Amino acid sequence: MPVATDSFTEFSIIDVFRDCCAGSRADVLLGIGDDAAVTRLPEGRELVVAADALVEGTHFLPGTAAASVGHRCLAVNLSDLAAMGATPHWATLSLAVPDADEAWVRAFADGFAGLAECHGVSLIGGDTVHGPLAVTVTVMGSMPAGEAVTRSGARPGDRLYLSGAAGRAAAGRRLLSGELPASVTGADEYLRRFSYPEPRVDLGIALAPLVTAMIDVSDGVHTDLGRLLAASSAGAAAEIPELDELERDFGDELACQLFLGGGEDYELCFSAAAGAASDIEALAQAHKIALEPIGTITETQKLCWQYRGRTVDYDGSGFEHFGA
Ligand code: ADP
Ligand code: MG
Repeated sequence: MPVATDSFTEFSIIDVFRDCCAGSRADVLLGIGDDAAVTRLPEGRELVVAADALVEGTHFLPGTAAASVGHRCLAVNLSDLAAMGATPHWATLSLAVPDADEAWVRAFADGFAGLAECHGVSLIGGDTVHGPLAVTVTVMGSMPAGEAVTRSGARPGDRLYLSGAAGRAAAGRRLLSGELPASVTGADEYLRRFSYPEPRVDLGIALAPLVTAMIDVSDGVHTDLGRLLAASSAGAAAEIPELDELERDFGDELACQLFLGGGEDYELCFSAAAGAASDIEALAQAHKIALEPIGTITETQKLCWQYRGRTVDYDGSGFEHFGA
């Protein structure tokens, strides 16, 4: 049990979450307060579950704003569900805190609740313990039976796409840690992308019927696309899209490095048959988000990158080299 300050105890922490994050879903038959939660899965749909932990010092810097931690711990999980094409419904939250700091808990709960409300997610349970700051969220959602989008369906000839603007969140992380100068023009945008990522939930649901494989980008475009390709036993000839702001602020080599290896983007990377191109373009318009074509799936099981017609050799660990 966390060490209580004044009258704020473990039970007060649970009350904050019940008041702030429980939502009002009719399919929650029993939420926070009993030994376990009871929910009803919609008819004809399958349960889709993802869990992710954020540990202070590993996944976020000590002293990070509590609202950002609350937002991110849910966002990273919603992103995993989005990559399956699933609709999120419920979440649990296991929280280890060094003390029962009321201001911290309330700000954390506000960050969590803001994003949960956006996507109709109810917090239905969890655990609260004393320990070094760490947060584990499990998100549960559903989708029509048999229609989950996996990483393994990409086929040679499919087009490859990437949502949004990858690389900016990684710039934000490096601004926060002091590795990059906070004076760059795009600083506010980069910090917002890192601290308050927007999981592509509605986009993932809409894309599901159109795509052959999908993954969310948490560890960098190169690594996560590599996972999709490995699962599909395929390769890709890929093109880094124009990195306007990143290139302006950091030059082309660092911009490419942030794009390929930065991570924390929570964008969707997916493949689709060539015939789906116009539907995908229409979705981009409808969702007001860039769905950039970034290449083609190939038979040879290699991932080759180009930027503006130049070959980029990237070994996955940060070193890169621009060819002729
Ligand atoms: P138990 O000992 O039976 O696990 P707890 O006292 O740990 O019960 O929890 C009481 C209730 O509060 C349970 O419904 C549990 O799911 C919920 N709960 C505990 N911690 C959290 C949390 N951090 N977020 C949401 N619900 C929580
Ligand atoms: Mg418990």
